Formats: sequence, structure tokens, C-alpha cells
Amino acid sequence: MQQVVLIGAGHASASAAKTLRREGFAGTIIVVGDEAYPPYQRPMLSKEFLLEDAEQDELWSMSEDWCRENDVTLMLGRRADRIDIEQLAVELADGERLPADAVLIATGVQPRRLPSAPSPRVHYLKTLDEALALRGALREGARVAIVGGGFIGLEIAAAARSRDCAVTLFEADKLPLARILGDELGAAMARLHADNGVDLRTGVKVAEIVDLGDAGIEVVTDDGQRHQADIAVVGIGVTPNDAIARVSEITVGNGIRVDQFCRTSAIGVFAAGDVANHYHPGLDTRLRVEHFDNASRQGAAAARNMLGQRVVYDDVHWFWSDQYDHGLQFVGHAADYDRIVVRGDVDAFDFAAFYMKGDRVVAAFGIDRGAEILAAKSLIADKVPVDDAQLADEDVDLLELGSTEAADEVDDELPQTPDALADTRFERVARSGQVTEGNARRFMIGETEVAVARWEGKVYALHNLCTHLACRLTAGKVDQAGLTCLCHGSIFELATGFPVNPPATKPVRTFPVIETEGQIYVRVRD
Ligand code: NAP
Repeated sequence: MQQVVLIGAGHASASAAKTLRREGFAGTIIVVGDEAYPPYQRPMLSKEFLLEDAEQDELWSMSEDWCRENDVTLMLGRRADRIDIEQLAVELADGERLPADAVLIATGVQPRRLPSAPSPRVHYLKTLDEALALRGALREGARVAIVGGGFIGLEIAAAARSRDCAVTLFEADKLPLARILGDELGAAMARLHADNGVDLRTGVKVAEIVDLGDAGIEVVTDDGQRHQADIAVVGIGVTPNDAIARVSEITVGNGIRVDQFCRTSAIGVFAAGDVANHYHPGLDTRLRVEHFDNASRQGAAAARNMLGQRVVYDDVHWFWSDQYDHGLQFVGHAADYDRIVVRGDVDAFDFAAFYMKGDRVVAAFGIDRGAEILAAKSLIADKVPVDDAQLADEDVDLLELGSTEAADEVDDELPQTPDALADTRFERVARSGQVTEGNARRFMIGETEVAVARWEGKVYALHNLCTHLACRLTAGKVDQAGLTCLCHGSIFELATGFPVNPPATKPVRTFPVIETEGQIYVRVRD
């Protein structure tokens, strides 16, 4: 393979490019993107970036420097219009033709628009430029009308309230996020925002927004009510950017259809990220997932499949949201459940809710319950049967219920350090068979929590806490890329602990590890 073209300069393409290089691909990598920026992380745009807690430099998924150092060509401000699927070449709007041995379509989504004339007072939030414009408009005391109570609307509402704006939010459904979370937890989300001063108007559909010039804007609802504000922000869902697939006669249907190997209907053409409607073998259904973690993982899986590996993309989906001082997380797929089991206190916004089908957890949503959500991911992935009482009981460590997440004390019954290990600071942590291929297991060595991982037969030992927000790394994933933190998608190289994927920027500590005579030894003491 000589040349790979990645269409779309978003996070999925960045993840694919990095994976290609990490896997040793030495050919040409070209990334074509219609924005002026290198790939950046969008989650921050509606959170830290709006609050001015993050700078532009922190956003890059793949900086221009990295691209230079790794010989990745960025063609920015350029648009790919069509793929010649017979000859395999990408045709750009300006007439240039890029032959390729493999193509990735990672063109993302675009916001649905309200039928209103363009106005500097009517904001959407998808791009960095739009985030910069909105950040400038969220002045203290500004009257902000938000249309849509999905994740975009709610995150912007939280940011706007933190900046002391007067916020009115219009949501068509009877409760925000009820379609994803169900009525009970949708009601909790409504309370969270009402308690923080948002004037929430639910069951109200906005028909249009009228620009009143210096007087601001007017939101007009479909039952004829009118509401004035200084600015409006619209977050009413998105549509996949699948036009390039349509004109190239690649199969679409709620996005670009791909199989479990990220392959489209055209040979050599792959798709990943928000635009890809993928077959998920574990769930035996199709999904199009509009979250950052999916872009990271599916982009990486697509890259490896481009290289001829057969990597099934069947991860448990996960995403997070930050609203006010709370960290919200959702894991799994809650399309079909028969009840919700709650641990903690919904009224105090400190709980984990488990969506159950029979005796299995199929999804979980939590507010400030990262550990429970991490545990739920294992329970979902491993299809562990659990009973409601255990899930609800705060005294039961959910990590212990999952088959791979139990914390193991070092076993004193193991044989003494063999003479071959002259360095007596090494301590036995496990039998070799306890750390299986592609898994990480956590062990306490004194006070130090260590993740022992195995990849391609070799064992590695790392400090078990992500350097971003201290999530447990053993709840994440081990693969060629390294050890991926489940919380925000940071990836650490197994051998060095170096952060190869943001948001973590600091390396995680690694420990010398030796495997001999069927035992694993780690040295945490200097
Ligand atoms: P969304 O999640 O689809 O929510 C849009 C909401 O707007 C829906 O509740 C919808 O109600 C409502 N709505 C639609 N038309 C309306 C109207 N005319 N008036 C009032 N309400 C209306 O979409 P989003 O919030 O724009 O986000 C876009 C995508 O990005 C989503 O997939 C989202 O999950 C993702 N995202 C993720 C994160 C995260 O992971 N933290 C953050 C931001 C965005 P109906 O459903 O009843 O039409």
C-alpha cells in the first residue's frame, strides 16, 4: 500500500492517521478537510472552551507540528467531492485527483437548521469558528435563547449560566434527553437545569427565529408565542455529511453504511465517526454514534482494517458531558430495557442508573459516578449476570462483579523471587495466566495501584490512573495503540506511558516488569 487518503479533517481522521503511523505504515497519508484548521476535538467547544478554561492550542487532535514530524499531508480548506470507486481515487472540488490504495470517509455531521435568515445573533455550534463567535457573545447578563434540549443545548445552557447569562431553553419533547435517558432521568436533567436558573420550556417547538437588528432576536414557537433575547443558539440535531458517498454510489442509509470492519460497499473505501452507520455484532444492530470516543476508536479500527488486519469494531459505546460542576457519563445502548436500577440519590444528582434487560446491564448513566460507569462498561461487555440489589447497594464494589476488573492483592502463596531476578525490588504480582492477551488487570503493590497489561504476548506495567482525570486505566482497552482510558479516550503507550492521544498530555508512570517461569514480577520501588 502506497497512499491513503482520509476525507474529513476531524478527530476520526486524526485517530486513523495516528494509528496508521503507529502500525508502521510508511506510505503517504493525505488528510483533506474543508475547514482551515488541522483536526481538533469538538467536545471542548461546548464546555471548557466556551468558559475560556481551554485555549485553542489544547484542541488539536493532530497538530500541524505532529503532521510535519510524521509526514502526514494536510490539505486544508479543500473539499473532496467524489470518489472514483473503480480506479480508487479521490476527486477534489478544485479538480485535483488523488489516487489511493485505501480511502477513509470521516466527514462527520452538520447541524440541522431552523428556517431563519442567517444572522450574527443566531448561533450554531459545530466548528471552532462558531465556538469562537459564541464565546464572544456569551457576555454577562446577555439574554440567551437556546433551541433544543439535547447535549449541545444543555451544555451550552450550563456554560451560559456559568457566565451569568439569562438563559431560556426551548425543547420540543416533554423532557430534555428523555429519548436517551427515559422519563425519570430526563426529569432529573430538567431539575438540574432549573435549579441552576435555566428557564426551561419543554413541549415547545420553535418554528423560526426573527432577527430584530440591534434589539436582538425573537424566537417564534409553532403555537405562535414570541420570546425576545439578545442571541439564540440552535442545537436541534444533526444530519450526516454523506453526499460524497451518494455521488460515488456508495451505499447510504442514515449515514454511510459500513460493516463491523468499517468497510463501505465500495472495495477499499472505509468510513468512521459520526457519518458511519456501523453494524455492531455484539448488539446485532446498526448504529450511527455521534460521540468523540466513537470517532477515536472507530477511526483507529478503520486504519487497522485498511492495513489488512481484521479488527472487528464492536466496542461498548461511551460518552461524557460536563454540566455545571457535574460530570455526566453514559455507557452502552439503551434501546431495549425493561427497568432502571438506581444506586445513589437522583435528587442530589449523585447517582448511577443501570438500564436492565433481564439480569444484564445494557446501559448505564451516571452523574459524578465515574467508577460505577467504568464498572458498568465491563459488566456490559462481559455480559455479566447481576442482581438488582447488588447494583443498588452502595457497599458492593461493582468492579468486583465484573470478571476482569477485580483488584488483586499480590498473592503471598506465590513462590519467592527466583534467583534469576538479581534485583530483589521486583515483587510478584500474578501468575502469567492471570493477565491474558489484550487485557489489563489491576494489582495493589503496597499502596501503588498498577495496571498490568498484555499485548502480543508481552506484559507491561503502568500506574493505573490516567493523568488526565485520574480514571482507572484497567477499565479501558489494550491494543496496538496502547492502553486507552475509557473516560476521555486518552491513549498511553504501553512501553513508555507516553500519551499518544489527548486529552491527557502527561505520561503515565511505567514500572519495570519481568515475566519468568510463569510468574509476573513488577518493580515499583526505586
Ligand atoms: P440532539 O441530541 O438530537 O438534540 C436535539 C434536541 O432538540 C432534541 O431533543 C429535539 O427534540 C429538539 N428539537 C428539535 N427541533 C426542535 C425545535 N424546532 N424546537 C425545539 N426543540 C427542538 O442534538 P444536539 O443536541 O444538537 O447534538 C447533536 C449531536 O451531537 C447529538 O448526537 C449529540 O449527542 C452530540 N453531542 C454530544 C455531546 C457529548 O457527547 N457530550 C455533546 C454535544 C453534542 P425531538 O427529539 O423531540 O425532535
